[in-house]
Amino acid sequence: MRDDANATDTLQPMRPLTVVNARLLTLAGSAARRGAAMRSLGVIERGFVRCNAGRIESVGSGNPTGDLGEVIDAAGRVCMPALIDCHAHLCWGGNRWSEWENIRRGMPWSEILASGGGILNTVRATRATSEDELAQGVRGRLNAMQRLGIGTTEAKSGYGLNQETEARMLRAIGTAAQSVSIKVRRTFLGGHAIPQDDPEWPDRLAREVIPAFATLFPDAAVDAFCERNALSVDQARAVLQAAKAAGFACRLHTDQFNSLGGAEMAVQEGARTVDHLEAATDETVRCVGASPTIAVMVPCSGYALDGRYAPGRKLIDAGAAIALGSNCNPGSAPTIDLRFAMHLAVRHCGLSCEEAIVAATVNAAHALGIGGETGSLEPGRRADMIVLADRDERSIVHGFAHEPPLHVVLNGCRLSP
Ligand SMILES: [Zn+2]
Repeated sequence: MRDDANATDTLQPMRPLTVVNARLLTLAGSAARRGAAMRSLGVIERGFVRCNAGRIESVGSGNPTGDLGEVIDAAGRVCMPALIDCHAHLCWGGNRWSEWENIRRGMPWSEILASGGGILNTVRATRATSEDELAQGVRGRLNAMQRLGIGTTEAKSGYGLNQETEARMLRAIGTAAQSVSIKVRRTFLGGHAIPQDDPEWPDRLAREVIPAFATLFPDAAVDAFCERNALSVDQARAVLQAAKAAGFACRLHTDQFNSLGGAEMAVQEGARTVDHLEAATDETVRCVGASPTIAVMVPCSGYALDGRYAPGRKLIDAGAAIALGSNCNPGSAPTIDLRFAMHLAVRHCGLSCEEAIVAATVNAAHALGIGGETGSLEPGRRADMIVLADRDERSIVHGFAHEPPLHVVLNGCRLSP
């Protein structure tokens, strides 16, 4: 049976829902926003959004007419699309708390890796975790994310690094997605690292596993990690090419610690996104800025690891479309709060508040290949939106470790607080 995480809209609304009297950020438009367009939020003052059967039916200013169903009076507060986390791992076994303490006591990262730590530590724990337990972990994170106003998230595999465990992770993500309102897009991150027990894994991945997963998980995207101690540029290219041949959209973790040419290769191969980019050179910035590939920044990792951040300002000024992700994972970004990534993008990557909002909504939808489905307040889009406690949208970017939005509406239903 096909296990499709993306086909399910769990809670079906019984009646219309209308938000009135709001400062609406519509973010309307059909393409990812790039360059100067990233500063435009499509504001409507005193606006309304009417939803029916899980979709947005109409958006406008003034007073709506007809059957409004449940009414949320925003009283001038901001109503905007629910956030979209376009880079999140979400599925793993075990934890890295002891490792983190060792790092804080000064153990060098190279020593952690040499002792089988980091990603490989989580690979061992994940292989030993049952599908039910994995699904339970994912479900808990999804529930917490939707309470914070995240309407769609990615969920990557990548801690199995063998066919059986990678498939188990993707099935667990699919199972968890069926019991929540947040929409989940799966990504097969088989090229996350090279496992100690299988040095031929990248080759096997490209030749055998990706073609097999095209039948099992046709809704997924394919991702890899191009870095020293992970996949080389040539190995990552082979993975992306095999993925394209099997009909998958491609993404690449690249230029996190070293500039090896991974981003340029991914652009050449037509990848939908290049993610991380903390080590991107000016040449890489120009290459990505001139391409249709979306640059995904994950600044929670810089915060947790080493204080290095992607050159967001340079990327936008070079014409790039930028999106943001939490990079939620048990090691380098132990958070489910995309709003913290928005805060850090302004604090450390040179984005404005408007740019951070675009990067965490409409552009993130395009990074997941669902730009026509969600990420903006327009008729026909999924009825996913949040009402903030404030009348100025900068509040959602300025705060960190702060309270959830006043109202979260997903698939046309208000989540109970
Ligand atoms: Zn990642």
